[in-house]
This record gives sequence, structure tokens and C-alpha cells, in this order.
Amino acid sequence: MHEVSLIRNVFRTLEHEFGEEELGCLQQIDLKVGALSNVEPTLIQNAFDAVTQDENKYTDVALVINVVPVKIKCEVCGEVSEVQNNLFKCSNGHPSGNLIQGTELLIEKVHFAE
Ligand SMILES: [Zn+2]
Repeated sequence: MHEVSLIRNVFRTLEHEFGEEELGCLQQIDLKVGALSNVEPTLIQNAFDAVTQDENKYTDVALVINVVPVKIKCEVCGEVSEVQNNLFKCSNGHPSGNLIQGTELLIEKVHFAE
């Protein structure tokens, strides 16, 4: 269960960054997940529900998963393009594996109640 440890890590990171009182007002967590990061949004959501129930914490917190597309920057012409259908080429046809986006898995933003 890769996703469960991932979610636990997200909470441990937040607990490291914020105090208990602040986390009591936590409303929503936005995750940024690259299309190549090998995680399924549905599985992350399920893991999130399982962890919050298990820990009996953050049960009112919403999870938003933003999947970002894979992008490459061509070393030949410098063009930045989105990878579609696993074709790692710029629009000029240069093959490129120079990933600049798509493998990340980050806490993008956290929302607290006012
Ligand atoms: Zn190119």
C-alpha cells in the first residue's frame, strides 16, 4: 500500500510544519501529482479516507488531487511541450526525455478555516 504511506507522510510533513492548533483548523489539502508519478488519484483518495479513519484525525479535511501533465523541454530547439500518448517529442519532431514536469508529488497548498 504505497498510497497509505504516502498519505501518512503528507500528514507527518504538515505536523512538522504547523502546530496542533493550526492543524485543528485544517480544511483542505491540495496535492499536485504528476502524470508519471505512478500514483492513482482514486487510490490516493481511498488511502486518505483509510488513514483519517484509522488515525481518527483530519476526518473533516477534504483532499483535492491535481494531476499535472508530463512536460518536456527539447534540448535541440528549447521548446517546452506536453507529452501526449507517451510520445516524448517536441512539435518539431526532436525526441527528448528531458522531463521538466510530470513526476512530482507535492503538497501544493493547504487551506485553513478562517
Ligand atoms: Zn525540438
